[in-house]
Amino acid sequence: MLNTRFQALQSVLDRTVPEVKMPSTKISDFFGANVFDKKKMKEYLSDEAYQSIVNSIDNGEPIPRDMAEQVASAMRSWALSKGATHYTHWFQPLTGSTAEKHDSFFEPTADGGAIERFSGDALAQQEPDASSFPSGGIRNTFEARGYTAWDPSSPAFIMGRTLCIPTVFVSYTGEALDYKVPLLKALSVLDKAAVDVCHYFDKSIEKVNASLGIEQEYFLVDIALFNARPDLYLTGRTLFGHISAKNQQLEDHYFGSIPERVYAFMQDMETEALLLGIPLKTRHNEVAPSQFECAPIYEEINLAIDHNQLLMDLMDRVAKRHNFKVLLHEKPYAGINGSGKHNNWSMITNTGRNLLSPGKTPKNNLMFLTFFVNTIKAVYEHADLLRASIASVNNDHRLGANEAPPAIISIFLGSQLTEVLDEIESSRLSKKIKEENTLWQGIPKIPQILADNTDRNRTSPFAFTGNKFELRAVGSSANSASPMTVLNLIVADQLKKFKYDVDKLLRKGEKKDVALMMVIKRYIKESKNIRFEGNGYSEEWEKEAEARGLANIKTTPKALDVMVNEKTEELFASTGVFTSREAHARHEILLESYYKKLQIEARVMGEIANNVIIPAAISYQSKLVENVRGLKELGLGEETYSAQIDIIKKLSEHINFIKNNVEEMVQQRKQINQVDDIRQKAIDYDEKVRSFFQPIRYHVDKLEQLVDDSIWPLPKFRELLFFK
Ligand code: ADP
Ligand code: MG
Repeated sequence: MLNTRFQALQSVLDRTVPEVKMPSTKISDFFGANVFDKKKMKEYLSDEAYQSIVNSIDNGEPIPRDMAEQVASAMRSWALSKGATHYTHWFQPLTGSTAEKHDSFFEPTADGGAIERFSGDALAQQEPDASSFPSGGIRNTFEARGYTAWDPSSPAFIMGRTLCIPTVFVSYTGEALDYKVPLLKALSVLDKAAVDVCHYFDKSIEKVNASLGIEQEYFLVDIALFNARPDLYLTGRTLFGHISAKNQQLEDHYFGSIPERVYAFMQDMETEALLLGIPLKTRHNEVAPSQFECAPIYEEINLAIDHNQLLMDLMDRVAKRHNFKVLLHEKPYAGINGSGKHNNWSMITNTGRNLLSPGKTPKNNLMFLTFFVNTIKAVYEHADLLRASIASVNNDHRLGANEAPPAIISIFLGSQLTEVLDEIESSRLSKKIKEENTLWQGIPKIPQILADNTDRNRTSPFAFTGNKFELRAVGSSANSASPMTVLNLIVADQLKKFKYDVDKLLRKGEKKDVALMMVIKRYIKESKNIRFEGNGYSEEWEKEAEARGLANIKTTPKALDVMVNEKTEELFASTGVFTSREAHARHEILLESYYKKLQIEARVMGEIANNVIIPAAISYQSKLVENVRGLKELGLGEETYSAQIDIIKKLSEHINFIKNNVEEMVQQRKQINQVDDIRQKAIDYDEKVRSFFQPIRYHVDKLEQLVDDSIWPLPKFRELLFFK
């Protein structure tokens, strides 16, 4: 048998650190060079066309056809000057990755020559063959029509030699087939609801944008070792592998210096990202060996998500040049920390005010409290929907697995703000305000700079960190649009209810700050159960959360139920973010993806067990049998080969277990594949197929410890994680 493991290890030893071509100028000189941003639009467009696109970006106004023609022509000139030959509509279908279909600018002319053309129509709308993107039954494959339509709020950019135009993706009948459409809808609902509430404090506020900064965790592994692990390259994670003797117990990786090869990759990746206008700022090692993190400066949320999607794609491409593979999977290695994607979220007004930042004056603090408490209330009311928005087969390995935030959604505030909320809850504040009859008085003081003890509680899925909330439960490979659509939507909905509640009191003749305070106080009380400052990994918390009535749904198929229940349908309908058909379609797509991924994992597991592991174990066993036979022939006594006999027996036990269980798992799969109901199918895959993974793995890992290292075929954890 070809022993790829040792060939792979040799390749790693032979590696040299590639030289990284870095622009010789400062970052600010080349930042965004490959983006058709406002500055370039101004340069390439007439004033009128420029104004119309700015209106569209800032206020969502449609761009007139003749202007689109101008923009297309300007984009083309710019792109050609940068050496682009093709263009593509770049979009985010529900497969989870990004999609593109390239067309050339080139067009032959009647006289046998050729020109480069790009029309307003080609910019505004395309009709890719959409039949093979998931649609959850919205679009039958025979009417395979889906449209991509230009999203002017995210600027076009050049990747390689292709002009990429960010677009939305909708069905022929107008339903969303991507992540962007619902996000944009949710953002617009939030804008309106938040501006309305802002007007209690400041009439000059006209727009509220959500901002997002995404911290991205990932693993790197040498490409040769990766290719020698079929489980890694087919499923993104190792299905087998005994934990390495040295692991993360010394916690020395986090503070360690970045290895030279990795550093070269990071510099290269950052340069490419900066050229694309992705404002990468931070890089460091993470907790686990070979785990790293990068983070850009926060941006307007739609752009931040496009940039994160682009970044994931970019990381993968650049890594190949460095003979690395980037693992974005949430849990590539059992027993070692997984990867997440922390979503730092806040709301910022057109006047530049962060609504989640405490201010100097009592009035400002009441404004802060309003948005702060409404966010808490929103998460309290719709914790299950937020949980569903981060559910995936990969993330199930993290949530509730004693390392990542648990599957129980709770909110961490830090001691200072907890005290403030407790004070409001127990005070007779509104009465005091009423009696003293002075506007904006009696509102508790909030220190403007909050002690950042908040970040230390890494066990909380949703933590307040000074001037933003950080949703930490998002999986590293996920599209943040899914949880961010939900978060913005539920906060919007909550703000609408808040306005309704406050207005009702105002109509009764309450003073404004009294009314605001009364509703805030009530919300603090009502949402108290979601607040938790302790250790989210502990067993006590699971018990306490149960007593508090908080949901703890550990697996995806059941976590997704909430997407189509009555309460959610009402929320979706009242905000217009998803039609009932869209919600059901998405639910179905997620269930389908869930069971299909398990199906693939089960198949890969069976194949590797039967074709790689068992043969390796048998060949070692044959060696031992040979040895025992030889010792016997020499006339030596049993004491000389009793250890060998012992190992031979153990090998057989493990081999038998693996073989029998793989067979049983296959039988189960065959039966479950007959199940029509997709939810039931997903649950069955979890309960009746996935349940084989751990026991089979256990015995394979035992074999790994028994079998002669020189014939073990798969790169081991110690090599995947430490070999450089
Ligand atoms: P940490 O200590 O968790 O690393 P940082 O302060 O470095 O936190 O921020 C992490 C991410 O949060 C970065 O992307 C940063 O730009 C972003 N961020 C900072 N302030 C805000 C804000 N007001 N709204 C949204 N994101 C923010
Ligand atoms: Mg952070």
